[in-house]
Amino acid sequence: MSEPTNGGPGLPQQRKIVTEIPGPKSRALQERRLKAVPPGVGSTLPVYTVAAGGGVLVDVDGNSLIDFGSGIAVTNVGNAHPEVVRRVQQQVAAFTHTCFMVTPYEPYVEVCERLNALTPGDHEKRTILVNSGAEAVENAVKIARYATKRPAIVVFDHGYHGRTLLTMTLTAKNMPYKEGFGPYAPEVYRVPMAYPYRSTEDGPATAAKVIDQISKQIGAHNVAAVLVEPILGEGGFIEPSPGFLPAIAEFAEDNGILFIADEIQTGFGRTGRLFACEHEGIVPDLITTAKGIAGGLPLAAVTGRAEVMDAVHGGGLGGTYGGNPLACEAALAVFDALDADRITAKAARIGEIMLPALRELAAGDPRIGDVRGRGAMIAIELVKPGTDEPDAALAGAIAKACHAQGLIVLTAGTYGNVLRFLPPLVIPEDLLHEGLDLLAGAIAETR
Ligand SMILES: *Cc1c(COP(=O)(O)O)cnc(C)c1O
Repeated sequence: MSEPTNGGPGLPQQRKIVTEIPGPKSRALQERRLKAVPPGVGSTLPVYTVAAGGGVLVDVDGNSLIDFGSGIAVTNVGNAHPEVVRRVQQQVAAFTHTCFMVTPYEPYVEVCERLNALTPGDHEKRTILVNSGAEAVENAVKIARYATKRPAIVVFDHGYHGRTLLTMTLTAKNMPYKEGFGPYAPEVYRVPMAYPYRSTEDGPATAAKVIDQISKQIGAHNVAAVLVEPILGEGGFIEPSPGFLPAIAEFAEDNGILFIADEIQTGFGRTGRLFACEHEGIVPDLITTAKGIAGGLPLAAVTGRAEVMDAVHGGGLGGTYGGNPLACEAALAVFDALDADRITAKAARIGEIMLPALRELAAGDPRIGDVRGRGAMIAIELVKPGTDEPDAALAGAIAKACHAQGLIVLTAGTYGNVLRFLPPLVIPEDLLHEGLDLLAGAIAETR
C-alpha cells in the first residue's frame, strides 16, 4: 500500500492521471471490499483515497483527481483544513469522549452558541448536537410533535431527508432509498413542490394548491411541521419557484405549524449565503444542519426557537456520541474558517464561473434541458432533445466519462438525469476551469 500522505491544501493542486481509473490497486481493494462489505452500500467511483485537500483527491495508484463532489457537500472548507486538523489533534490528545449526557464539556456548548448566532433570525435559540443528518431530522420531528402536540408532518415531492425509518418515510424517491424497506412511519403527508423546469405554474400558485391540500386533506390544526429543503439536494438541486417558500412559511406561521428548514446539504456557505433560507428571507422555526458543519467529521444539529426546543422534558433528547468533542472542535474551526477564508464569497464566485460556462454549453446542446443552482451548488438536467423527457442513461454515461478523465462528479434527481456539481469552496480557480473543460469534453464525446 502507498505511503501515507498529508492531505490539506498543501497537496499539489493539479490533476495527474498515471493509471486507468480505477487503477490496479483500487481494483484490488474493490475485490477485497466486495467480500467484506455488502453491495447495498454503493460507491460512485471506487478509487480508494489516500489524501485529499484543496480541489483534489489522491488515490492509492497515485492518481490526482479533481473533486466536484466534496464528499456530497461536506468538505466546504476543504479536506484536512489546517485549523480543523490542528484542533482535532489537540482534542484527541486531551480526551476523545465522555458522553455529553454523562459529564459535559465546553466545545459542545460553544458549537451550540455559535449555531444559535449563525442561523437565520435574531430570536432566542437553542441547539442540540447529534451524529448524522438523518438523526437531526428525526429529532426535529420529535421536537416539533412534542412542542405542538400534533402528529402530522408535511413533506414535499422530490424531498430527501435520510435513510432511517422516519427519514426514508419523509424522503420522496422510492429507488434506491425506500424500495423493500417498508412499512413506513405513519402521519407523513407529501405535497407538490414548485419545480420551475417541470411546471408552468408560478410559486404562489403551487403554494396555494399545497395549502388547499393541507387544509382539506390533513387539517392544518393536525400539522406539527412542514419540512423542506430550501434548495432540494438529492431531488436534483431544485430551487423552488420564487414566492413558493415564503407563502408556505406564512401559512405555517398563521396556523401554528412549525417551519423546519433542512439545510443539511445547503448550509455553511454552499449556496453563496451562509444558509439557503436567506435567499428569500425565510426565518425557519427549526433548522437541521450536518454535512458542511465540521469539515468531514460526523456532526449534525437541530437549532430552533428557545420555547420550542425547551418544551421537551429532561432526558427526552440525546445520544451516546452526539456532539463528540473531536467533531465539535472541527466545527469550531469551520465556523472560524467561514469568515477567515471568505467561504460564502468563494461559493458565489464558483457560481459566477460555472453557471455562464454551463449555459453556454446548454445553448449549443439540446440534451441539456436546464442549468440551475446557486453558489457552488450547481446542476444540469439532461433530457431527450426537443422534449423534457429525462435521460438518466445520458447523465450516467457523462458521469462515467468524467470519472475516466479524473473528474469526480455526482448524479442526482428523482429521474436520475441530473449531474450535480459541489466543488470544495476552496478549490483553486484553474482547477475549476480545468474541471469545466473536462466536463464539456465528456458531454461532447458522449452520444
Ligand atoms: C444528506 C442529507 C440528509 C441525511 O444526512 P445523513 O448525514 O446522510 O444522515 C438529510 N437531508 C438532506 C437535505 C441531505 O442532503
